[in-house]
Amino acid sequence: MARIAMGTSPANATKGERARTANGRRPHALCEGTVRPAIVRTVMASVAGLLLFVGVISGLAPVVQAADRTGPFERLVFQTAAGKQRDLLATVLVEAVDGGLLVQSGDGALWPIDKPDLVSRQRTETPFAPETGHVVARGLLGERGAGWQVLETKHYVVCTQTHRRYAEWCAALFERLYFAFDNHWKQRGVTLVDPAFPLVALIFEKEAGFLEYGRSLGHDLEGAVGFYDIKSNRIAFYDLTAGSTDGDLLRSMRAASQQVATIIHEATHQIAFNSGVNTRLADNPLWLTEGMAIYFESPDLSSEKGWKTIGLVNDLRLPLLKQSLAGGVRGRLETLISTDELFVSPETQPVAYAQAWGLTYYLVKTRGKEYVRYLETIRAKPRLEWDTPETRRADFQAAFGADLAQIERDWLKAMARLRSR
Ligand SMILES: [Zn+2]
Repeated sequence: MARIAMGTSPANATKGERARTANGRRPHALCEGTVRPAIVRTVMASVAGLLLFVGVISGLAPVVQAADRTGPFERLVFQTAAGKQRDLLATVLVEAVDGGLLVQSGDGALWPIDKPDLVSRQRTETPFAPETGHVVARGLLGERGAGWQVLETKHYVVCTQTHRRYAEWCAALFERLYFAFDNHWKQRGVTLVDPAFPLVALIFEKEAGFLEYGRSLGHDLEGAVGFYDIKSNRIAFYDLTAGSTDGDLLRSMRAASQQVATIIHEATHQIAFNSGVNTRLADNPLWLTEGMAIYFESPDLSSEKGWKTIGLVNDLRLPLLKQSLAGGVRGRLETLISTDELFVSPETQPVAYAQAWGLTYYLVKTRGKEYVRYLETIRAKPRLEWDTPETRRADFQAAFGADLAQIERDWLKAMARLRSR
């Protein structure tokens, strides 16, 4: 049976893998991707400076689901985690019988509100409507203040503190990624929806501003170059070309190809959560969401466009994947698909990401129809209900077959044959 939870945690960012730095810090796989939010009656674990939440819930009252059937705007006044009072116009998506709410504002942000934090709630006569790109852009300029400018494209509002050329390059990269993502899944029979809200990307001039913004959302982003925040629905990163003196944008990006991969990774999460491929604040197994983001993340900086194709062998992940599977890993598949535990510990994170990519690569390439069927099952999950390991395993077996040991053997065999590009 699904466990049910409401929460107000800020821990819904996905942080891109930290790039290897000059001082030799090892890269960390840090996406908290789709980690469940903080939940009433949860155990909170702080891992390597990150806040990850492990839901342990029992006896919580069931949720009355009103997901995605948006009513009119309501005026909600509530206490934020920072202890401030917030006055928000939003529509109620989910209402728990204990009075907790999940609401969505016109810019697409999700706000979980626990009952004790709710000060007042008043219906209005105004039907809920997503904000347009112009309105979102105006709001961002007001929020960020002097020194920022906005760039609107078909799907994106890019709000930048750095030079316009870099923002244009990023916006063009995102639109190409969006097109390719959409095309890739449509060709495989997945029904996608157009994003209901403009996709917001924030580009900070310097790392310090980026880190401070992360802190304002409750995330410790030290060492990360970008992240996607599930609740605000924004991606944010900083100018990777800052400090380059020759003005050659592409050369700077080539020198930072791993960081570019991170930006693509985070942008892929944002697209997946806004096109109906994944559902925000629902139970998304991390192997699925992270594996998909990595599947799309290979940049191609040999062309002016910076990114060309998807589903290539990921040269950044392949060595670790091979190494991790070399000695045989009986039972690893079952752990990977039924819990998120391998993604939590700093020791197992890098391998978990590499294996999530390897499993995604294998299933999409060789068992595409079953993968799509599995995707359909997961994206239909209701928000704020967390599956048990048994349910996750059963969902996987329903799509790919009951014999996990055989699937694991086939997977390992296929991975042993993979060669880098
Ligand atoms: Zn991720």
